[in-house]
Amino acid sequence: MGLLNGKTALITGGARGQGRAHAVRSAQEGADVILLDITEPIGSVDYPLATAEDMAETVRQVEACDRRALSFDADVRNQSQLDAVVAAGIAEFGKIDILIANAGIWTRAPFWEMSEETWIDMTDINLTGVWKSAKAVAPHMIERQTGSIVITSSVNGLEPGPAYAHYVAAKHGVIGLMKNIALELAPFGVRCNSINPGAILTPMTNQQAAWDMFAGHEGGTYDDLLAGGYGFHALKGKTFLPPEAIADTAVYLNSALAENVTGVTIPVDAGHMLLTG
Ligand code: NAD
Repeated sequence: MGLLNGKTALITGGARGQGRAHAVRSAQEGADVILLDITEPIGSVDYPLATAEDMAETVRQVEACDRRALSFDADVRNQSQLDAVVAAGIAEFGKIDILIANAGIWTRAPFWEMSEETWIDMTDINLTGVWKSAKAVAPHMIERQTGSIVITSSVNGLEPGPAYAHYVAAKHGVIGLMKNIALELAPFGVRCNSINPGAILTPMTNQQAAWDMFAGHEGGTYDDLLAGGYGFHALKGKTFLPPEAIADTAVYLNSALAENVTGVTIPVDAGHMLLTG
């Protein structure tokens, strides 16, 4: 018996990285999954986003757990696309019990040099996209008087970061949004919580801008990234954390184990906030 037996989970940004880990861990615990991601590039993002092959691999891994997966090419900035994914998911599986609002981007620039496009892409996806995703599932969850929403924030939802004010603003913003969603949906039996990941090894961090940040100069390498990861986390031996660390926490929050937990945010950061908080 899995912790999510018979549930259906909708996961945004589900093609790779933490999204794939959420899909596979949810499936291992007995859930069918509905995945959405974009394949279009985003102007201000200079690392590649997910591909159709990434999504096909996530679907394959879910099906290998004997669970069903539906996948959609959809953008969390687009309410009608989100609404269509929710309608198609309900038509296929009969219900949606869980939303994991995970889709996000990460870019860097000093705030006074940041282009408006960079600011808007970030806040549209990492903040407004979460609101739109929750908006798409809320009426269904209210009608069923049950549901769980997990929002992926960041340790940057609790502290600043070097040259990414837009990301910090969005990740702080989703914690406030989480608290309001939790308050507004509590009378309907629907819970909402968020997670603050530390440094997680995914395609978002395994790219040149992150290698440079951890090296402290341009021309950083993968080894600089891993070396920097050791200083980031307090717990012994913890460099970059696996995406499954975040997915395990979401399984808990989405399960009956957390039936009395709503409106909270949980750092999963191997003690990073002890060093900086
Ligand atoms: P990732 O880049 O591998 O995954 C993000 C996914 O979101 C990608 O598949 C991407 O294509 C998708 N996406 C981006 N814009 C989208 C849009 N408009 N519509 C739909 N999908 C979109 O990185 P990840 O580390 O797995 O990131 C997952 C979440 O975790 C993000 O919200 C990120 O900000 C957050 N986070 C990551 C770290 C880290 O160290 N990797 C730390 C803290 C928080």
